[in-house]
Amino acid sequence: MQHTLMQLPYAQTALEPHISAETVSYHYGKHHAGYVNKLNGLITGTQYADKTLVDTVKHADGAIFNNAAQVFNHDFYWNCLSPNPSTPSSELSSLIQRDFGSMQAFKEKMLTTAAGFFGSGWVWLVITKDKKLAIESTSNADTPIRHNLTPLLTCDVWEHAYYIDYRNGRPDYLENWWNLVNWEYVSHNLPK
Ligand code: MN
Repeated sequence: MQHTLMQLPYAQTALEPHISAETVSYHYGKHHAGYVNKLNGLITGTQYADKTLVDTVKHADGAIFNNAAQVFNHDFYWNCLSPNPSTPSSELSSLIQRDFGSMQAFKEKMLTTAAGFFGSGWVWLVITKDKKLAIESTSNADTPIRHNLTPLLTCDVWEHAYYIDYRNGRPDYLENWWNLVNWEYVSHNLPK
């Protein structure tokens, strides 16, 4: 099965002024699309040709894993953002209170982890099998679903996510990214 580039759930201009249309056009239109195209080329004639994206991310190695996981991670990233203000569900709010102390403490820990992460990768809010929230970082294409963790929220800290708008100013990108978090989507990712 050939994988397809997701449709963005908003216009490419919708995340401005926090994330510019130019960044979206490169990040979604070149990087994300590039991973989809590369993946489709790599799986042709392999055991992954008929697998779902999630199955491929869970089992593949090497270049197939890298490209499949980057497609999964980017689909997840765009869905975590929205130009419309939203708030966490009461269930997610209580879990954040319980495991981080407050929303502000969670924000600080998430952004500090993301600012301090060395190199290319992702910072995630995940929930473990025993229903505990945690902040995890993954390098390059690595992703929580490979480690039996359920992702709730992600931030892309590859330079391509922010270099056009913020140059080397990753902390400025992170503060702006925070303003766009789609808490409805994040809450909906909690296991039922
Ligand atoms: Mn990216």
